[in-house]
Amino acid sequence: MKFGETFMEYLHGEQERFLHKCSHVEYKRLKKVLKKCRTCKSLSESCKSEQQGDKEEEEDCICEYQSCPVCDQMFFSELMKEASDIAGCFSSRARSLLQLHVPSGKLRFLLGVRRCFKDEQALKDEGSMLIEYITMNEIAIRKILKKYDKVCNIYSVYLNFKSKMKAEHIELLRSPWLMELGAFLLNFNKLDGGEFSESSGHFSCDFNASLSVMTLTLANSIKLEFDLTCAICLDTVYNPYALSCGHLFCKSCACSAASVLMFQGLKTASPYSKCPICREVGVYANAIHMLELDLLLKKRLTEYWKERMSGERAERVKQSKEYWDLQTQYAIGY
Ligand SMILES: [Zn+2]
Ligand SMILES: [Zn+2]
Ligand SMILES: [Zn+2]
Repeated sequence: MKFGETFMEYLHGEQERFLHKCSHVEYKRLKKVLKKCRTCKSLSESCKSEQQGDKEEEEDCICEYQSCPVCDQMFFSELMKEASDIAGCFSSRARSLLQLHVPSGKLRFLLGVRRCFKDEQALKDEGSMLIEYITMNEIAIRKILKKYDKVCNIYSVYLNFKSKMKAEHIELLRSPWLMELGAFLLNFNKLDGGEFSESSGHFSCDFNASLSVMTLTLANSIKLEFDLTCAICLDTVYNPYALSCGHLFCKSCACSAASVLMFQGLKTASPYSKCPICREVGVYANAIHMLELDLLLKKRLTEYWKERMSGERAERVKQSKEYWDLQTQYAIGY
C-alpha cells in the first residue's frame, strides 16, 4: 500500500476520535503542491541534462538555483507550520497525560489518584496512541521530503529546512516528551530490574540499566536511543531536567551550569545562560522536569538513585546554609 493511503487509513481509523483537534501532516495537499511545482521540475530537468556535461557545468548549475519560489513559499512554510503544530499538540497532550502540572512532591499521591480516575489500561493506551501519532507524522514528513527531493532536487533548500526545524525545536522525534512517554510506559510494567521489552504492535521500548540507555523502536524500523548520561557529572542522570534544546542533565548539574542555587531552581537562571553542550541561550526557563524518567531510574537503579538522593540533599542543605549566612552578613553589614 502507498504511504498516502496508509496515512489516510491511520487518520480515519479507530483513532479518529483521539486525533480530533490534533494537527497532522497534510500529506495529500503537500503532494499536490509538489505536482504543481513546474518551476522546480523544469529546473531540475535542465540540471540533469547539464549534468551530463563536464564537472564544472554541474557545479554552476547547483549554484544557480539556490531556491525555488513556489516551494519556499508554499511547500516548506506549510510543512514547517504543520510540524510546529504537531510538536505543540504532542507536548501539550503528553504533558496533560502525565499530569505534570502537579508539583513533584505530590508524585506518590498522584500515582494513587491516577488509578482512581482512569484505569491503567486506558492511560497506557493513550500513551501508546501519542507515540504512534508522533511516529506517523514523522514518517509522513520523511516521505514528503523524499518526494520533494525527487521533484525539486535542490539539496541546499532541503538542508536549510532541516536546520530550521532543529533551531525551532520541532524535530518531532527529539521531543523530551517522547522520552517521558517511553519511561511512563516502562513504569507501568510490573517487572523489576533486568532487561525486558515492552511491545505494543507498533513500537517497543527498552531500558538497559547497565548502559543507562533507553531505546524506542518505532514503526518503519525507526530506532531511537536516549543516552541517560549527564554530560556534566558523566553519570546516569538524577532528578533529570530536559532543557529547551533537548539536552538532559541532573538538576544539580544544570543548576551549577546556570550558576543558580538548587533551591532557587532553573526558572531563576539568567536568559543568557548557555546549555553546556550546544551553547544555546535561554534554554533554562522552560526546562522540563522529567518525572517519569526519574521514577524509572528509581525503580531500576534503586541503590544508585538513593545514593544520589542523599548526595543532592546534602548539597542543597550546604547551598542554602551558605546563602543564608551570606544574607545575614549583608544584613548585619560587615
Ligand atoms: Zn519547487
Ligand atoms: Zn549530572
Ligand atoms: Zn543543548
